[in-house]
Formats: sequence, structure tokens, C-alpha cells
Amino acid sequence: MYIRVPATEIASMNTAYTSPKKHAIVAGGSLAGLLAAKVLSKHYSSVTIIEKDSVQRKPEARKGQAQAYHLHALLPAGLQVLSHYFPGFLDDLSSHGVKVLDFASSMNWYCYGGFRKRFPIGIEVIIVSRALLEHVVRERILAMPNIQLVDNTLVKQLTTTDDKQSITGIVTENKNTGQTNLVSADFVMDTSGRGSRTAQWLKELGYGETPVSEVKVNVGYTTRIYTRDPGDAHGESWIISTPIAPGHKRFGAAFPIENNRWMVTVGGWHNDHAPTLETEYLEFVRGLPNPALYDVVSTNKAVGDFIQYKFPFSLRRHYEKLRRFPVGFLVAGDAFSSFNPIYGQGMSSAALQVELLDKLLNEQVPDQDLAKTFFKRSTSIIDVIWSMATGEDFRYPQTSGTRPPGIKLVNKYIEQVHKATTKDEVVCGAFLKVIALLKPPTHLFQPAILWRVLRQGKPK
Ligand SMILES: Cc1cc2nc3c(=O)[nH]c(=O)nc-3n(C[C@H](O)[C@H](O)[C@H](O)COP(=O)(O)OP(=O)(O)OC[C@H]3O[C@@H](n4cnc5c(N)ncnc54)[C@H](O)[C@@H]3O)c2cc1C
Repeated sequence: MYIRVPATEIASMNTAYTSPKKHAIVAGGSLAGLLAAKVLSKHYSSVTIIEKDSVQRKPEARKGQAQAYHLHALLPAGLQVLSHYFPGFLDDLSSHGVKVLDFASSMNWYCYGGFRKRFPIGIEVIIVSRALLEHVVRERILAMPNIQLVDNTLVKQLTTTDDKQSITGIVTENKNTGQTNLVSADFVMDTSGRGSRTAQWLKELGYGETPVSEVKVNVGYTTRIYTRDPGDAHGESWIISTPIAPGHKRFGAAFPIENNRWMVTVGGWHNDHAPTLETEYLEFVRGLPNPALYDVVSTNKAVGDFIQYKFPFSLRRHYEKLRRFPVGFLVAGDAFSSFNPIYGQGMSSAALQVELLDKLLNEQVPDQDLAKTFFKRSTSIIDVIWSMATGEDFRYPQTSGTRPPGIKLVNKYIEQVHKATTKDEVVCGAFLKVIALLKPPTHLFQPAILWRVLRQGKPK
């Protein structure tokens, strides 16, 4: 039996934890928080997720997670982590009408003057709304006997030992009553997303300024849902159009999500955003080089309004560079690193970070070394994702941030890779494995691939 403690009961919960025994708190109940709770529940006798929004037991987008109104792709690496932690996860999703497809044969992806090669690659992918994905994960979490979720409650502050070396819990505020409470814990994990206050809290506690990296992209999303005929000519393909940078900035995607709907997101980099007036919007979509997108929006009925989201910059908080970090505390997910969403990496990054935490807890890394080890080892996850996302963004001269040395040369080569994916299954397969986070980017530089990329179009 799961226990979902209503916000009003948190005061009595507090009493229950005055002498805590292995109690963990997760601040933020979105995807990173839910996964963190799952992993922590293996290592702590009880886990409490504190979420500021009111959470319903149905698929929904919430205020604190407005991105759920927009198209989300779960990369195969993230799906593998979720399938590992939730046996039967794909069946669960299928029972909600979610399609499990082959990653390469189900795509209809226009890029750099052609369509990427379609062929069976043997890697599963799911096409699902973010709201349903989170609902399915949350239901699994709420079914666990030692996890409870307290909603409508803000995490306001950390509490520490007198010497400020260890975190002892949090201060919460009930959003309905304004009542504050102190909740003790042996471990606190911040998964409160991009707006996380950890850097500020650490500064106030004397841990110094957390170095950050920002890469400005000014990306805008415009999303609308359309009806979908089950016999649609596009079958169950997920449709994408990516621009030839830096000359073009506009992108678009349409995914056949559950309940026979198309979720269509279009937009662009550096303020080249899609309008929300019907005629201008249709013109915008018609201008995208993948004609399937216009076909979807012009032949199906719109359900609901346009919804916009602006994403100004990718943000990385370098906790690994802090000299000290409090014991009994960690940060993961978007609170740690938040990437340009176009590349669909955020949820998988969070999943891989949480998987790493599980490994470290299994290895019984001592409490006082956990943060240092976690941040150090997670750089190998985040460095790769960050370099892939920002590398593409740096094709635009308007993108500001620290350009890695040699990026122009790398991007020239990757442009050739993109082109080769439209002609060569082997290169396309290698590329898809890299963007799926199943292989490192160096996979594209191995001699067999390099040779095919450089020889493309030339007689063998
Ligand atoms: C437009 C857009 C599209 C995206 N598309 C993709 C995609 O295609 N694929 C992909 O993998 N990722 C995508 N992402 C990123 C993805 O949404 C996140 O990486 C993912 O949700 C993991 O985030 P998180 O759980 O760390 O934080 P969030 O999802 O931001 O959740 C943070 C949670 O913490 C709660 N919270 C915040 N402050 C407090 C507080 N003080 N106290 C208590 N609770 C608090 C919030 O209400 C929220 O529930 C996209 C993001 C955006 C913005």
C-alpha cells in the first residue's frame, strides 16, 4: 500500500521523523524526482517526495512543469533505464495506447537536404506524451510501500548541523495554509528543476559561488494537438524537420501520441519562433522542408490552442567544481544541468544520473564522499550531452557561450555525417546510436565511419 500524505498532514509527519532512521527527502516530484525516489527507496527505509504543485493521479501538465504541454522524446538510453527500474514498463505504456516502435524504421526525418535512411535498427523507442509518461512512472512510484508523495508543498530551505557540514532536513511551506514545517532527513536530493535554489542555499551556507555555464539559444516552441486518423498515411512515423544551420533556424516535429492524436511542435533558434495566428502558423509550417508536417496540420483537426514555450539558454551548474559540498545532499536532473530541449536529452540525462547514484549507493560510497564522487562521475554523462547539444547550437553565430576549441572543424565533419545519414544506413545507424546516448560521440570518428562519411557519394 502506498501512502500519499496530504499537505495538511505534514506536521504529524514531522513528528514521526524527529528521530529519523534512514529517511530520504526528494525535493521536486517530476521525472528526476520520481526516479530518484525509486532508487533511494532501495537504500533508505522511507522516502518522501515533496512537490510544490497539486498532483492528480492522471496524465496532466502542471504549472511547475509547463514543458509537459510540449513534445517530448524519450531517448533509447533513457527508456532502457526506465525499463530496468520498472519491469514491464513497455507493457504498462502499451496498455495506455502508447506505440513501441523501431527507432530507425519509424522515423521520417528530414535534415541537410534529404531524409535520413529508414531501416530496422533493433532499438526500441516510445512515442508518448510527457504527461502520460510521467503518470505511468508516478503510479509505479506511488505503489511502493516506502515512498510517499506530499503535494502542494514548497521546499523553502535546507536545515544543517551547527557547523553547516551536513544537511539534516528541509523547511517546507504548505501552499494552501502558508504553514511552515521542519522535516528531518538523513539525505536530501534536490530535483526541483531548472529553477532550483541550491546554488543560492549553498552560497548562504558559506560554500561559495557555484560556477555556471550558459549557452544562449533563444529557442521557441509552439505546440498544438491535432486529431489523428488511425489509418493515417504517415502510419506511425514520428516526423521531424531540422534546419541547415546557420542559414536556417526553423524546426518542426509531429509525433503520433496516444489516443490517436498528433502532437506538433514547431519553432526555431534565436527568436525565429512560430506565430500563433492560424494563417501565419500554417505558412510557417508550410515553409519547413519536410512536407509531412504541413500535411499533418492542414488535414487534421486542431484540438485546443497553440501553446508557446521560450527556452533562453542551456544551463549547467558546476557543483563538481565546488571545493566543499554538504554531506547528505545531492542535486540531479534539470536542477543540475538543463539542455536546449530540441535534442530531447533532459529526461535521459536525469535517468542516467539517478542510475549513477544507485551504483554509488550499491558500492557503499561513504556518506561524506558521496557528493564529490557523484558530481565527479556524473560529469562523464553531462559532458557528453552538453557537448552534443551546445556543439549543434554553436553552428549559429548568435549562440553565445564558451565555444569549445576546434568546434568549427568538428561541426564541419558532423555536417557531413548528417548528409551521409541520408545515403548510408551504416552511418545513419551509428549516428542514431550516438544521439540515443547508447554510444559516445567518438563512435562517429572511428575509421570505418569516418571513411564512409568522407567518401559519401564518391565511387567505391
Ligand atoms: C519545452 C521543453 C521540451 C522538452 N523536451 C524534452 C524532450 O523531448 N526529451 C527530454 O528528455 N527532455 C525534454 N525536456 C527536458 C525535460 O522536461 C526535463 O529534463 C525533465 O523533466 C527532467 O526534469 P526534472 O525532473 O529535473 O525537472 P522538472 O521537470 O522541471 O521538475 C521539477 C519539479 O520540481 C517541482 N518544484 C520546483 N521547485 C520546487 C520546490 N521549491 N519545492 C517542491 N517542488 C518544487 C516542480 O513543480 C516540478 O514538478 C524538455 C524541456 C522543455 C522546457
